[in-house]
Amino acid sequence: MSKQKSLFETWSALPSPQSARRTVQGYLPLILSVAGALAVAPFAVIRWMAGEWLLGIIDTVIVVGFAILAIFVYRTRKVRAANIALSIVFVSGALATIYARGPQQILWIFPALMAAFYVLKPREALVVAFLVLAALLPQLANSVDPFRAGTTIITILLTCAIAFSFAEINNRQQKQLLALATRDSLTGAGNRRALRGSLAKIIASFERLPSPACLILLDIDYFKRVNDTHGHATGDLILRRIAQLVDMRIRITDGLYRIGGEEFVVVVDGQGADIACQLAEELRVLIERHEMLPGVSVTVSLGVAELRSVDTRQDWLRRADEALYEAKRAGRNTMKLAS
Ligand code: GH3
Ligand code: MG
Ligand code: MG
Repeated sequence: MSKQKSLFETWSALPSPQSARRTVQGYLPLILSVAGALAVAPFAVIRWMAGEWLLGIIDTVIVVGFAILAIFVYRTRKVRAANIALSIVFVSGALATIYARGPQQILWIFPALMAAFYVLKPREALVVAFLVLAALLPQLANSVDPFRAGTTIITILLTCAIAFSFAEINNRQQKQLLALATRDSLTGAGNRRALRGSLAKIIASFERLPSPACLILLDIDYFKRVNDTHGHATGDLILRRIAQLVDMRIRITDGLYRIGGEEFVVVVDGQGADIACQLAEELRVLIERHEMLPGVSVTVSLGVAELRSVDTRQDWLRRADEALYEAKRAGRNTMKLAS
């Protein structure tokens, strides 16, 4: 299912080391808050010095708002909440300034809207933009000549259209990048990198609150022979078919990954060894009975391992691999559970 993301969120969606993600997630809203505070602070000082109390108060409130946000995001890392608050401070600050000082302050609305398109989801930002425009209309109607008012409205609309398109394109590119970075191009299954992320997540949540999880390691029997007899292209086709078969059989919450030439992993989250062994056996029978191409069938061997509290990611995979090795030794086309 496609989920709309803000330009900001697309930064953090790609698989990257945890530390890098934390840096990007934590520091970008922080930078925006600090930049906002620094940009408005000189105006606050000037206004206080000139005795313009109303504007002085507005600017001070904006600076304090940004400063509070910066501290909030630095301390809590509640990035989504900070981003929503950030766009509210930007937009309401700009509107308050325009209302207090008049339409010559309208330029502030451009960075405010750009910030909204950066930190909110594109459609949310569009709604904000239309609300801003509606809020500005009485000001524009009252105090500027019609030509300037028209130009202002058109430039705001154009800015929003460009920002919206940019955010949407970025969303799409991010989806493509995510697929490239996490999917195996031949079978469409997840790749090693995706598996690593999924196992790390399961182990982390297991450490907080143990709930069963299993790995099923699946390896095609005598696949070299299949390639030698029917050709590499047929081998590729069989790999794709097997991925399709497994993918259709497993639940939406299970994950399928291709981790080697003819080796796949099914991650069964939330189920213990009994259910995982049952599933592994079903997959074995399903593949054995399926005619991959007219007259061509293959079998698979499977190793199942349930996560134990002492397991690291490597231990868990190694235990599944040992069970698979047992299945191979037992004559192939069979399933074994790790001890
Ligand atoms: P075993 O039952 O012990 O697993 O025997 P096997 O022949 O399947 O195992 P082996 O590891 O000896 O060979 C794996 C073969 O998988 C070698 C290679 O030809 C084939 N292979 C690996 N990746 C691909 C691929 O992307 N496409 C195709 N067509 N074949 C692949
Ligand atoms: Mg094999
Ligand atoms: Mg193999």
